[in-house]
Amino acid sequence: MNVIDYLRISLIDRCNFRCQYCMPEDADLDYIQAQEILSNDELISLIDQVFRPLGFSKFRLTGGEPLLRKGLVSLVEQIASHPHTQDLSLTTNGYLLTDLGRSLYEAGLRRINISLDSLDANVFRQITGRNHWQKVWSGIQTAFDLGFNPLKLNVVVIPGVNDQEILDLAALSIDRAWHIRFIEFMPIGNMDLFTHKGWVDSASLRQQISDRFGLESSICLGNGPADVWKIPNAKGTLGFISQMSECFCDRCNRVRLSADGWLRPCLLNESGQIDLKTALRSGVDFSQLRHQVQELLNLKSEINFKEGDRGNNTNNYQRTMSQIGG
Ligand code: SAM
Ligand code: SF4
Repeated sequence: MNVIDYLRISLIDRCNFRCQYCMPEDADLDYIQAQEILSNDELISLIDQVFRPLGFSKFRLTGGEPLLRKGLVSLVEQIASHPHTQDLSLTTNGYLLTDLGRSLYEAGLRRINISLDSLDANVFRQITGRNHWQKVWSGIQTAFDLGFNPLKLNVVVIPGVNDQEILDLAALSIDRAWHIRFIEFMPIGNMDLFTHKGWVDSASLRQQISDRFGLESSICLGNGPADVWKIPNAKGTLGFISQMSECFCDRCNRVRLSADGWLRPCLLNESGQIDLKTALRSGVDFSQLRHQVQELLNLKSEINFKEGDRGNNTNNYQRTMSQIGG
C-alpha cells in the first residue's frame, strides 16, 4: 500500500480571480461562512495532534487563493518551523506575491507553485477574468529573485484558448530553473467549458514539445503525480499531470482538507470523507480523531483502485477545485 504522508490544505474557498475552468464569473458559488473556516489554531492542532502522529510530514497550502487568507504568514511560520515538517509548499495565482513573497520566504516557505496559463495579457484576461498578467509576472520574478526553489508554474491547457502557447510556456524552463507543469483540464468547476472545448492529453503536449525542442526524462521533483521531463540542457523541467488520461492512483500519497475541515480521501471521490471541524469543536478527543483519519486512509487505497480509469471519467463533480483545494 502507498504511504500517505502528504496533506493538501485549502485555507480559503474565495479567490480574487475568476478562472473560466474553476470559478467562472457567472457561477453560483456557495461560499463557506467565515465562522465555519478552520482557524490557524485549529489547523495547527489538527496537524500536530492528528496528522503528524499518523506519519504526515508534507503539507501544501492552497485554496481558493491562499494569499487572501488572514494570518497566512504566521501559519506558514508555525508549520515550516516544526522539526518534523519534511516539506511545505504553497499554490497561488501569484497576484499578491510581490507584496507577500518576502514575508512568506522569511517565514520559512521555500517551495511555491504559481498558476500561469498564458504569456499573452489578453489571453490571460480571458482565462482569469482579470487584467492582471503584469502583476502575476512580477510576482513570479519576485519569487524567483527571493530564491524560492523549486519554483513551479502550473498551466491548465484549454483547446482553442491557450494551446497555441504550449511551446512558449515550455521554453520558460530553458534559461531559468523554472519548472513548468502542464495539468490536464478536468471536468470540475465548469462543465460547459469542458464540454465545449474539451481537453488535451499530456501525451500530445509532450509530442509537440519533443518535436520542437527534444525531450528527455528527468528525475522526479517533489511529491507529485507529475511525469517529469526536460528539454535537453534546460535549467528547469517540464511536468505533466495526467489525471484524465492516466490513472496514477497507485502513486497517490495525499489527502485533502477543505477550508471548513472536511477531510477527503481523493480529489475525485468524496466517499468516506470526515468532518474534522465539527468533531474538533465538539470536543472529540485527538486519539478518536486519529482513529477516524486512519480509517479514512485505509479506505483510500480501496477507493483509488475502484475508480481506476480516469480517462473515461467525465462526471460533473459537484465542487470546484477552489472548494476542494486544488
Ligand atoms: N488559486 C491558486 C491557483 O490558482 O494556483 C490555488 C488554487 S487552484 C484551485 C490550484 C490549481 O488547480 C491551479 O493550478 C488551477 O489551475 C488548477 N485547477 C483549477 N480548476 C481546474 C480544472 N477544472 N482542471 C484542472 N486544473 C484546475
Ligand atoms: Fe482562483 Fe486559482 Fe481557481 Fe483561478 S484556479 S479561480 S486563481 S482558485
